[in-house]
Amino acid sequence: MEPFSEKIYVTRPVLPKIEEVTEKLQEIWDSKWLTNNGEQHLRLENELRQFLKVPYLSLFNNGTIALMVACQSLRLSGEVITTPFTFAATPHVLSWNNIAPIFCDIDSETMNIDAEKIESMITPHTTAILAVHVFGTPCDTEKIQEVADRYGLKIIYDAAHAFGVEIGGCGIGNFGDISMFSFHATKLYHTVEGGALVHGDKNLKPRIDLLKNFGIKNEDEVVMPGINGKLDEVRAAIGRIMLNYVEGERQKRIALHKIYNEELSSVEGLKLMPVVAENVKLNYQYYVIRIDEKIFGRSRDEVYDEFKNYNVYTRKYFHPLCSDYTCYRQLNSSRAENLPVANLIGRQVLNLPMYGELPENDVRKICAILKSFKR
Ligand SMILES: *Cc1c(COP(=O)(O)O)cnc(C)c1O
Repeated sequence: MEPFSEKIYVTRPVLPKIEEVTEKLQEIWDSKWLTNNGEQHLRLENELRQFLKVPYLSLFNNGTIALMVACQSLRLSGEVITTPFTFAATPHVLSWNNIAPIFCDIDSETMNIDAEKIESMITPHTTAILAVHVFGTPCDTEKIQEVADRYGLKIIYDAAHAFGVEIGGCGIGNFGDISMFSFHATKLYHTVEGGALVHGDKNLKPRIDLLKNFGIKNEDEVVMPGINGKLDEVRAAIGRIMLNYVEGERQKRIALHKIYNEELSSVEGLKLMPVVAENVKLNYQYYVIRIDEKIFGRSRDEVYDEFKNYNVYTRKYFHPLCSDYTCYRQLNSSRAENLPVANLIGRQVLNLPMYGELPENDVRKICAILKSFKR
């Protein structure tokens, strides 16, 4: 098989028509208001609140700062139980809040934190659970809530992958105490850089909004050590435009998911995206497979390397596991014996190219290339 003539990346940002952006820029220029709770910011908060079906929403300049503020707003301390199978930001926000991340193993189907194992990680220092809806597959929210209630723990969801996901018509942001969304350029919905915190507690909204604006209450009072988490008007305006593109992009990705599933479901040694309950609305942001080296005859790393010879650039999300980072590997909970499932999946997982503009025939060719690797 011939390699692709141009590089195929794992993703491409969704870009709005440039005219739509310049039109909005003109509005912003005319208003001479570039940041600090401007018109675009106010409107985007309302539009996103409706889109995500959540009671309260605060915009941020990125998802990581949002998550840091979430920890502060709930006054978390001590230890927080989280997953090693996530992006670096998840455990890092705990460290930046002087909180020890405690890594809990993951579920072998969903790749999310294993709710059954959380209880065994709880100590007198535990204050919360920070779970991630990995690749947009919802966590076992019921079981996590039950454990949290029993031990009086808070729950934060890193919903960076789960924009627009719903369970039984209920927005994914309605679970736990606070959820974070990332609007980074590589996510399904984006504001170039950006993020949000969502929750159902009306007393929390003013505290979050203070924390993201240096703790400045008014011209005469600064009431807490806040940070600069503000989203500017230019990005808020782009976010408003991008809202019109989400469903179209999602539909294109659904079509590509279908082709991947058709082409790969019968290949022995490949495990495809987890099947979830019928009442869950997914966003189809990523397409992820797991490669069982013993059956497929080739390791994930071999497949990753060989794909490059065909100009296909896949990604090994999430490898390395957070528990293998130099800054966390000395933790007791990072020991491989504590995380057998995460360690196995970290060696098997591979993200295949997935973005709306990817031609269907390219997906078929990527599948043919992958199948040709099998031994
Ligand atoms: C993208 C991402 C983040 C961080 O979001 P930023 O907006 O880039 O700061 C956090 N957690 C996960 C799981 C992510 O994928």
